[in-house]
Amino acid sequence: MSGPYGDSTRSVKATASQRVPGQPVAPPPMPVAAYHLSDDESEPLDSYGRSSNPTWRQLEAALAALEGAGWALSFGSGMAAITSVLRVLAKPGATLVVPADGYYQVRRYAAEYLAPLGVQVRETSAADICTAAESADVVVAETPVNPTLDVVDLHRLAMTCRSRGATLVVDNTTPTPLGQQPLSLGADLVVASATKALSGHSDLLAGYVAGSHGELLAAVERERLLSGAILGPFEAWLALRSLGSAGLRFDRQCHNALAMALVLRDHPAVRSVRYPGLPADPAHDVACAQMRRFGGLVAFELADASAVHRLVERSDLLVAATSFGGIHTSVDRRARWGDPVPAGFARMSLGIEDVDDLVADVVRALG
Ligand SMILES: *Cc1c(COP(=O)(O)O)cnc(C)c1O
Repeated sequence: MSGPYGDSTRSVKATASQRVPGQPVAPPPMPVAAYHLSDDESEPLDSYGRSSNPTWRQLEAALAALEGAGWALSFGSGMAAITSVLRVLAKPGATLVVPADGYYQVRRYAAEYLAPLGVQVRETSAADICTAAESADVVVAETPVNPTLDVVDLHRLAMTCRSRGATLVVDNTTPTPLGQQPLSLGADLVVASATKALSGHSDLLAGYVAGSHGELLAAVERERLLSGAILGPFEAWLALRSLGSAGLRFDRQCHNALAMALVLRDHPAVRSVRYPGLPADPAHDVACAQMRRFGGLVAFELADASAVHRLVERSDLLVAATSFGGIHTSVDRRARWGDPVPAGFARMSLGIEDVDDLVADVVRALG
């Protein structure tokens, strides 16, 4: 799965420039909109910034390398990547399965923009997605599901989709390619937000699509050109710069998440905990079979909304923030966004702080 190198080596190598004496080791930003054209009117590699540019190419090569994909395409956000793929694949009359328990804006887009066009939209939880795929044309799966962290058996789902001729699209935001490579498990396309752990500094929005079907990727690229949902070259450069440390950051985040999950599991103020890395978690066996790391998110439930607010107020290290995957540990009470979860349900995104400090801080704040 990983090739000859470990994931930290791969993330450093994926962002390195070619060894040319006198050239910078780290690629510089190149925000350019217009390029000089030739008199013979042949198409140069770069002509206009919405079609292509060198900074995208470097970022996309790095993302493709990490996902084990033939190609990757960058987008202005995760939602731009996902909706672009849906506009290409989910035609009127087609049946589209979207996660009922996953990232909420994906099912909102399907309900508000695709269903009125005649797409049959079915919302399905992780537990039922294989059954729903038996009568679908396009399946969007998310695993581990954000925010409840249930896990979908991707190999099984891919087999179901293949036998039906359905296209399987996997949202790989939560685990990142360092935690899971859906293409190697049979997915047709990966879509993801690079806003979260992959860029990891809570300072940019970006998304991408990755896959190895040339025609499908070309259709998505065409859609990006015409819809214009592009990533600014400066954000592309920032994302590329962040990718080099992704292996290091993600290892620490996963390490901190397991330690936090164990502490929360045993704390009397905590009603329940989900983390795929916990041996007793219902998703642990499937997660072990398909994930390389269990990720930096822990889902847990306290008594009510005010218990979650109190935890953050009393803590010295936690910040209340939506989004996740950054270097600071953050907590988000998901019911405030309308997720179908209890009022005291929270998602903790582990940062890269020292684990002993984090655990001591949270235990003190839980009281
Ligand atoms: C955040 C997120 C998205 C959307 O990404 P943006 O970069 O915010 O557009 C999609 N899927 C999942 C699982 C996410 O967590």
